[in-house]
Amino acid sequence: MGAEFTDEEEDLFNQTGEAVLRRLRKTRNPGDLLALLRSEHKRFDRAYAAAPIAARDSVACRAGCDACCHVPVGVQAHEVLIAAEFIQKNFSPEELDSVIARTAAHRAAFANKDNRERSELRTPCPMLKAGSCTIYESRPEACRSHHSHSAAACGLNLDPTREEIDVFVPGVRGRMFAVMLGIDQAVAEAGFDGQAYDFGSALHEALTDSMGAIRWMRREPAFPESCWEEVPGSLDDDAGVIRAEGFFQ
Ligand code: SF4
Repeated sequence: MGAEFTDEEEDLFNQTGEAVLRRLRKTRNPGDLLALLRSEHKRFDRAYAAAPIAARDSVACRAGCDACCHVPVGVQAHEVLIAAEFIQKNFSPEELDSVIARTAAHRAAFANKDNRERSELRTPCPMLKAGSCTIYESRPEACRSHHSHSAAACGLNLDPTREEIDVFVPGVRGRMFAVMLGIDQAVAEAGFDGQAYDFGSALHEALTDSMGAIRWMRREPAFPESCWEEVPGSLDDDAGVIRAEGFFQ
């Protein structure tokens, strides 16, 4: 885990994981668990604010750019449930119907395709509307973690026939990944679902079957195989899965 991190990022990963795991273990009411994890999203803002100024100054991301919202988004179950809860609380019945239709279309388009084929589709995320994220406050951790040094390069990366340009920002990327992996590892250490899901497909499931939230609270797999990030049976179908390994005290 730490091999790709600097010592500072490794510390951030451990501090995040230990704090989140402590809070999860203290939470007696299962109905409070998602709110707790939603509140932990503030850690991304704090980690970003503490990144070196030069690194932050080189971030090109601005409101209205949406190239990064045209690639598959891999998530953990709790992220899907946080987004679904936000949609159910804040969207009108008409908007909810529209999201269900868009996530259904996304799920059908992704079915039985491997990661490369899904990525080549360059389909917009079902939560993207007029260039903006409609669930910005409750967007997944991968979306919070992504920063680019070049909007132009992001635009070029929309063409799947071109060789991809690395747009990551050194000094920011590792910090954000340390927070993301710290939270997700703590969730797995607490016994919750560590399967990697495709965001759009699992969101469709969460919005059309409320049992996913119940299964997650019972520490069971929240969503069916049809929502996995990797096609079941593929060589990589274990990729992104997080397991309890006793990382934190
Ligand atoms: S959830 Fe929001 S930020 Fe993330 S890919 Fe979808 S539209 Fe973009």
